[in-house]
Amino acid sequence: MDEFSLIDYFFKSRARRADDLILGIGDDAAGLRLAFGEDLWVSTDTLVADVHFGADWDPYDIAYKAIMVNLSDLAAMAARPKWVLLALTLPNPDPSFLQAFSNGLFDVLNRLEVSLVGGDMTKGPLSITITVLGSAPQGQALRRQGGQNGDKIYVSGYLGAAAFALKHPLSARFEERDYHLLQEKLKRPEARVDLTPILQKYASACIDVSDGLTADLSHILKASALGACLDLKAIPLHPLIRKYHFDALAIEEVLDFALYGGDDYELCFTIPAQKSLIFEQELQEEQKSAYCIGFLQHEPGLTVLDQKGRAVVLASRGYRHF
Ligand code: ADP
Ligand code: MG
Repeated sequence: MDEFSLIDYFFKSRARRADDLILGIGDDAAGLRLAFGEDLWVSTDTLVADVHFGADWDPYDIAYKAIMVNLSDLAAMAARPKWVLLALTLPNPDPSFLQAFSNGLFDVLNRLEVSLVGGDMTKGPLSITITVLGSAPQGQALRRQGGQNGDKIYVSGYLGAAAFALKHPLSARFEERDYHLLQEKLKRPEARVDLTPILQKYASACIDVSDGLTADLSHILKASALGACLDLKAIPLHPLIRKYHFDALAIEEVLDFALYGGDDYELCFTIPAQKSLIFEQELQEEQKSAYCIGFLQHEPGLTVLDQKGRAVVLASRGYRHF
């Protein structure tokens, strides 16, 4: 198959059509229509073999992760993803690779009602660049800079499992079911696009946890010109990390996975204190949960209270007790 038949067969023929799509794959550009009163939000990310994913991964998982990583950036802005472009660099146009890859891609896109509207295909070392476009009602998207003194800090789910799976890649030490769950956390993250409406309503700032909680939260702190106080007891460490609490690691070392481990793609966001109760009630009505881990404060930097309520300083790795 030549380049055009590959694009037709694996991508164009499978791309969903939607009313907001004036023109999709097949011309020199795609045409998109925004609803009245909506702003356009755009983001792009490249994933490179053996940096962001293993070259030996199932191509289904490579596509799954590549698209979710990109959708997560829009979720972090509380913008609803609508369209994506895919620029694919392949060492050779292997149809079995493209079949599994497009299955992973379209399983996510169809489920989340996002349209593939264009892209590019070139020969070279395996790499995937996805551009995602989405919308939010004017003025309702979230930025890192919106945090205010006293706002509560939340994370949308358990942290650390992806980093834990990366560190313990072999199945030998896990029960089979747990091994698959951990691999899934690493290879098939779920962008928290489900939280967009409630975050638009209540949140003041938001970021996705791609580089690790402390690293990503510090972007909110810098942009909002504030510090934070975190309660270590409240950090939602993934239960499987607790279960496989190997080699009697100290709880502080285990928590490192949640504090510094990347690739979780949960959201970290802030909610004004006076809205936090109603936010939590509404979340519960939707049968969702989020974990309050601390609050924003004027005092700069990150203050962390340990299990006994003592202030500790977070080093670049691990802890330094006073
Ligand atoms: P051009 O030479 O104008 O850049 P291309 O041959 O690169 O056109 O692409 C032809 C059409 O197929 C365009 O509409 C482009 O957006 C689309 N396309 C190319 N590669 C992909 C891909 N991997 N996924 C989806 N659409 C693609
Ligand atoms: Mg092109």
